[in-house]
Amino acid sequence: MKNSKIRFVAILSILLLSGFLSTCLISYYVAHDSLSEQITETTLPLTSDNIYSEIQRDLLRPVFISSLMAQDTFLRDWTMAGEQDDKAVIRYLKEIQLQYDTVTSFFVSEKTRKYYHPSGVLKTVSQTDPQDAWYFRVQKMRDPYEVNVDTDTADKNSMVIFINYRVFDYAGRYIGATGVGLAVNAVRDLIDSYQHRYGRKIYFINPEGRLTLHGLNYTGPDNIRKVPGLSKHATRILTTPSNALTYTDEGKTIYVNSRMVPQFEWFLLVMQADDPAEGRILNTLMINLLVSFTVTAIVLLLAYITIGGYQRRLEEMATMDKLTGAANRQVFDMLFNQSVKQAKRRNSPLAAIMFDIDHFKNINDTYGHTIGDLILKAVTRTAKSHIRDSDILCRWGGEEFLILLTDCNLEQARTVAEKIRKNIEVDQNVLHQGKTISVTASFGVTQIVNQETVLDVTIRVDKALYAAKGNGRNRTEVTP
Ligand code: GH3
Ligand code: MG
Ligand code: MG
Repeated sequence: MKNSKIRFVAILSILLLSGFLSTCLISYYVAHDSLSEQITETTLPLTSDNIYSEIQRDLLRPVFISSLMAQDTFLRDWTMAGEQDDKAVIRYLKEIQLQYDTVTSFFVSEKTRKYYHPSGVLKTVSQTDPQDAWYFRVQKMRDPYEVNVDTDTADKNSMVIFINYRVFDYAGRYIGATGVGLAVNAVRDLIDSYQHRYGRKIYFINPEGRLTLHGLNYTGPDNIRKVPGLSKHATRILTTPSNALTYTDEGKTIYVNSRMVPQFEWFLLVMQADDPAEGRILNTLMINLLVSFTVTAIVLLLAYITIGGYQRRLEEMATMDKLTGAANRQVFDMLFNQSVKQAKRRNSPLAAIMFDIDHFKNINDTYGHTIGDLILKAVTRTAKSHIRDSDILCRWGGEEFLILLTDCNLEQARTVAEKIRKNIEVDQNVLHQGKTISVTASFGVTQIVNQETVLDVTIRVDKALYAAKGNGRNRTEVTP
């Protein structure tokens, strides 16, 4: 019974928990997947679009200015006329710098290799100077311009983004390079402001994967091929114009959107580590799990208590006489054997009393069965009140009772029997509809000896009871 109860509770908990857990986890993963999908398919590309168009507006301005300079008839005429007056071109560069608020502006003549700057002629570029390598690259380049991050020629301490534009004469012959420069820090500020505004990380990388621009406080690797988790996607990013992908770093999902910025020949990377909604989904999962466990615990507790209640009721029904609440014969058989063994072990005496209500048939016939039942209950109460909890009172038959008295010898048993007999006689002489109903009972007492069966004992004690009936009822007889 106990085992099947444990099995029932175990099966119930497995069913409830697996049901709850699967619904919790399924809804978590569905929400998680749709959130990831939303980030990769919609949110991140849209932010990336916005950042891309803002960056285009801010970063392409110097490209546009440099393009205007390369097309400028003054610059071309002055160069073709033999670079007569340095001051004229210096003034021109100073004007550009002032008007467009750039960090620098320059012109290098192919013919004289002079480096013109708003502050004067800085130097003559030379093929042997590694600092001037950029010029000879531009000289041979196929594209009309390049974007190059380098130290400033005038101020070696500051990093500058140069737009190096090729200049041609009217016949299409290459005559030099011109352009403007932007302070890298200004661009980093710009990137920081985008990062704050959009809550994303923003980087520029060149076609080799090297980080060309990032926010002010960036301290990570200088190449995406060295970024854990992202490195394996590097080739894919660097060989396709745009990409949407995710990778995991230290258990965190990182969403990446990349796109080529053709004017710079750089890739713009927009990354998002996690989404605030992710935390909410996880919170919901935790709350759901907590609710599930609580509900499971409550259901199990209720089931356990209910089953326990039914179990007790069933046990009582199986062991007790319904009318009087005294033990039934089955229980008596069981407890009798136990008590005999215990008495033997302890070497203590064991006795039995059997009593039967006198002329009960008459009582039933005169007052009816209901009154008879009430008397049976009352007699049981009286008998119970004169024995110990360790003694066993059993309703043996209709109005016949058997008592097993532990740790009790024949004489003590006789005393108990007499006490019960007298009390039945006094207590149960009740007045019913003006008449006194006299209730008495006859008692037989015997001692139980080693290795006796219930049958042995009942035969002997019945004999004593029979003697009591025969000797005039309402008395106690003893058969040792
Ligand atoms: P005696 O003094 O010789 O014992 O006479 P008696 O009338 O008590 O003898 P008997 O054993 O013949 O009668 C028992 C009666 O008890 C018969 C039966 O109808 C009645 N009886 C048995 N069980 C119940 C019960 O649960 N309720 C009621 N009201 N009567 C019962
Ligand atoms: Mg009787
Ligand atoms: Mg009887």
